[in-house]
Amino acid sequence: MLIITKLNDYLWLVFPSFAIQKMKYMKHRITKTTVLFFLILIQVACNSGVKEEPAPQPQTKPVQIVLTPQERAKLTPDEILEQLKAGNERFRNNNSTQRDHSAQIRNSAVGQYPKAFVLSCIDSRVPVEDVFDQGLGDVFVGRVAGNFVNEDLLGSMEFACKVTGAKLILVMGHQHCGAIKGAIDHVKLGNLTNLLTKINPAVTMSRDFTGEKKSANEAYVRLVSQNNVKNTINNIRLKSPVLREMEAKGEIKIKGTFYTLTKGELIFLDDLQTAKK
Ligand SMILES: [Zn+2]
Repeated sequence: MLIITKLNDYLWLVFPSFAIQKMKYMKHRITKTTVLFFLILIQVACNSGVKEEPAPQPQTKPVQIVLTPQERAKLTPDEILEQLKAGNERFRNNNSTQRDHSAQIRNSAVGQYPKAFVLSCIDSRVPVEDVFDQGLGDVFVGRVAGNFVNEDLLGSMEFACKVTGAKLILVMGHQHCGAIKGAIDHVKLGNLTNLLTKINPAVTMSRDFTGEKKSANEAYVRLVSQNNVKNTINNIRLKSPVLREMEAKGEIKIKGTFYTLTKGELIFLDDLQTAKK
């Protein structure tokens, strides 16, 4: 059998008819192989075209970018407020954004385009950026015991909004505020004495409270804190024509909120209007 096969391989060298047959056979085989090759190629191409997208993976890479003027320009004051609310929800759910601080330091060094100004008390349990899950370059933060405004803070807000383009002012009081308690108790101590007088209007606003008006009464302290936020907002509008005009034009919004230490949540002034007195 082997001999016949070998003979067949060499017969075409001797007889031309065998050579023609051999060529036809080889041509047929080449054509078949070529067609088969292209069919496989088409199959692979088709398969790759309909290949399912991999399921989206959770974002695990720390954020490196910072807010740009283009991104901020697209945001309305209401959208910024919603972003801060969403950030607080992430904070409370222990789901704060992972950030590459080294990269953000480099990326924010060239300029800042914060979207909001948050006025907060100095309380160590209310770290503003953390509470709203905001990073470098996202928000201006002004802090003073009792979160009231004076000329310097108003000037800071005007800089933040009129000069650099922030679109939201958020005044934030908080639960168990020592400054509020100090104002209620008429504490006298060095420079603190004068500071606490800035909170007195909120104490006056709370005169209709029917319970015990003492710093040990949490309900009363809460009411004075919330009235203090309202009073601060009133003073911003009253004492800063720059910000008042911006608000009237819809360029900024001024909102108030109350942060609860016990839950880490925010109660907004709009809701405070109906708060039980
Ligand atoms: Zn405080």
